[in-house]
Amino acid sequence: VVSAVKVGKSFGPLQVLTEVSLDVHLGEVVCIIGPSGSGKTTFLRCINQLESISAGALWVDGELTGYRRVGDALHPLSEREILRQRRSTGMVFQRFHLFPHLTALGNIIEGPARILKRPMAQVREEGMALLERVGLADKANAYPAQLSGGQQQRVAIARALAMQPKLILFDEPTSALDTELVGEVLQVMRDLARSGMTMIVVTHELKFAAEVADRVVFMDAGRILEEAPPSALLYQPQHDRTKRFLSSFA
Ligand code: ATP
Repeated sequence: VVSAVKVGKSFGPLQVLTEVSLDVHLGEVVCIIGPSGSGKTTFLRCINQLESISAGALWVDGELTGYRRVGDALHPLSEREILRQRRSTGMVFQRFHLFPHLTALGNIIEGPARILKRPMAQVREEGMALLERVGLADKANAYPAQLSGGQQQRVAIARALAMQPKLILFDEPTSALDTELVGEVLQVMRDLARSGMTMIVVTHELKFAAEVADRVVFMDAGRILEEAPPSALLYQPQHDRTKRFLSSFA
């Protein structure tokens, strides 16, 4: 579903990603770990085209992102085409980002109704089913301010699912939550992973990564230093840098 080939990203003189290559297949769950500032968020934002890349190439859902090939030349896509490509990817942010003036159900159906222009009755029915799936059927009419952080994040996950994406990117989805609310969000993500959803998850929840990930990727200073199944990467890391990072959790 995702193929990154030597992706580079700079902000002015600051090189944030260097030759990042990663393949994520349909139904896989890949967790990205690494120290603060190592480029994890930026990499997710590149996959979702919230940032443009400075080098390399990225394929998402079978399409080269951001460009169209005409003969040997690459032409940048229009904003409209980029929005179309972006729809294959859902994103769940650290800080929920729900629309404050819409109810839980309103947040979920906004995309399918307004962007995909699907029939309202159907969209509402699916929205209710999604709320049920994240355990919030009784909160359909609540506004974000009336929900706990954990509940808001579960609505945000339902909202991402409502667009029927091919993959969902999670950017530290539990790090803004009080400790006692982390579990309920991880449970929803665990269920989602079991349902076969393709997921890339930036997280500091190593236990979750150990349990749910097919592969764990360690990033440091804008590069992927190693990637392996969780049992190998988390318990028998190859690089000293990874060992040092993991030991900070002990
Ligand atoms: P964290 O765990 O703290 O979120 P991260 O691994 O996700 O860190 P990024 O947020 O991707 O790291 O940031 C990588 C580097 O890129 C940091 O040095 C950051 O300051 C820089 N950076 C990110 N976005 C921008 C931007 N829009 N303009 C300039 N620099 C940026």
